[in-house]
This record gives sequence, structure tokens and C-alpha cells, in this order.
Amino acid sequence: MNIAVASGKGGTGKTTIATNLALSLSRNGCEVQYLDCDAEEPNGHIFLKPEFEQSVDVMVPVPHVDQYQCTGCGLCGDLCQYGAITCVKGKVLVFEELCHSCGGCTAVCPVNAITERDRKVGIAEFGNSNGIKFGHSLLDTGAVQTPALINYVRKHAVTDGVCIIDAPPGTSCTVIEAVKNTDYVLLATEPTPFGLSDLKVAVGMVRRLGIPFGVAINRCDIGDDEVEVYCREEDIDIMLSIPNSRKVAEAYSRGEMMVEVSPEFAQKFVILYENINSEVDDATTELSASH
Ligand code: SF4
Ligand code: SF4
Repeated sequence: MNIAVASGKGGTGKTTIATNLALSLSRNGCEVQYLDCDAEEPNGHIFLKPEFEQSVDVMVPVPHVDQYQCTGCGLCGDLCQYGAITCVKGKVLVFEELCHSCGGCTAVCPVNAITERDRKVGIAEFGNSNGIKFGHSLLDTGAVQTPALINYVRKHAVTDGVCIIDAPPGTSCTVIEAVKNTDYVLLATEPTPFGLSDLKVAVGMVRRLGIPFGVAINRCDIGDDEVEVYCREEDIDIMLSIPNSRKVAEAYSRGEMMVEVSPEFAQKFVILYENINSEVDDATTELSASH
């Protein structure tokens, strides 16, 4: 099963929940994989401290123009939506760092003057953290192809056991790449006006994607009860509530796991997984009945 942990905004405890869920399930005997898909700011490794066994350059195709074959027609520049290729006074300029590797310019060139060559946009690393299979990626500075890195890491998802996907914050294309085709999305939030506002956007995203989802409220005893009211009105399950704890906050600041300093949470994470499992089963049954 693939479970994505996402949030409409950063700083809501998404990585805390994802890493502690992974560790709790692993200690409970599950085959667990943790994939950090926050390629711009991965920090799951700070908590899980994996031993890396493999590091791979992630490459994407970018256009290369044969200026001798090029007729300067400008069709490639007209097509590109990202300003990554342009024709100036009959000469084509390529800005590789802006290219999104759609392949459109290569396809549209009437004289086949464009071929593709690989450009490195980051690295992906894979390893092991006390029995948890670990994967993450790191975007090169100035590169824009975060979805390519996320896609690369997700291709390494195991089919057996549980795969926890730590999604980037927000609701942009990088988040879609991280959560699409997962079995369940757990939306982490906080009980504040900011948490609620971003939760609403995130709920809209997962509803459009048609993925079963629920909410985890971090630091549930601060702020107000508007997130709970919203979830009740929208018939959204609150799957986990984590109280504010100085002990947990101090552990976080040292890069330590919540379940190490507050072992009582381990069982809560196991129950969370069991509840997610049964929600996914219910959703699958409903889907089969509707067909
Ligand atoms: S591959 Fe797509 S994004 Fe890249 S330069 Fe060509 S048209 Fe633009
Ligand atoms: S589409 Fe081909 S021929 Fe036309 S400007 Fe671009 S590279 Fe040159």
C-alpha cells in the first residue's frame, strides 16, 4: 500500500508524521519503505538516519540544436511555453535550466535540427534505516525539474509492504507528482487559521485526484477548533491528533524521532495505519460496487 503524507503548507509536522509512521510500522513487523519526495528540501534522512547504498545522477532530456541544419523558422520558440528555447535573428538559443523536457520543440522542428541530450538535474539516493528501505532525491541548485526527481524516486516504490511517501508541501505540480496513484493521502495540518486555509486547498486537490484521504492534526491543543469544525462539516475523518509537547519539540530540534521520546505514540501510529487500511478497503469495495 502507498500512503502519501502531504500538507497544504510547510511546518505542519508532515515529515514528523511520515517518519514516525514508518518507524512504528517497521517495529511492528511490517515491511516498510519511506520515500522522501520533498526533493527541494528533503529532511526525512535527518530523522531516520539511513545508511546510503546507492547514489544515482538523475538526468532529463533537453534539446540540442544543430545550427547547420536549422533554418531559423522559429517554430520551436513559438511552441515552448517556458521560454527555454528561442530563435533570435535566425539563431536558436537554448536555456537548458528552464526546459521542462516536454519534447515539443524536437517534435515540431520541420528539418529535424533538434536532438535531445541528457542534463543532470539532481541525485537520488537509496539506502536502509534499521530495516526501513529509504529513498530520497536532491534537486541541483537552479534546476527546475523537481517532478522528474520525484518521479524517479517513486519508480523505486516496492510493491510489497507499506510505502510511506513524504510529499512536498503545497498543492503544486510537485505535490501532484508525489501523491498521484497512491492509495491514501494523509493531510497534516495545524489548528490555526493558516492551517485551515491551506488544508482547504489541499482537500480540493485530493478530491480532484479522487484519492481517499483523512486529516492529521499536529499540535491539536493549540489554536482553535475551526479545523475540527471544518472536517465535521465536510465529513472528513480526523485520523490522528498529536498534542503539543515540549519533549517532542526538543527531540525534533535534535533530529530525534517522536516515538523514541514518547513511545506511547508508536501504538497510535500502528492504529492509524490499521484505520487507513480499513478506509482503503472500504473505498475499493465502493469503487467495485459502482462498476
Ligand atoms: S523540450 Fe519542451 S520545455 Fe524544453 S525547450 Fe523544448 S519545448 Fe521547451
Ligand atoms: S524549429 Fe528547427 S529549424 Fe526552426 S528554428 Fe527551431 S531548430 Fe531551427
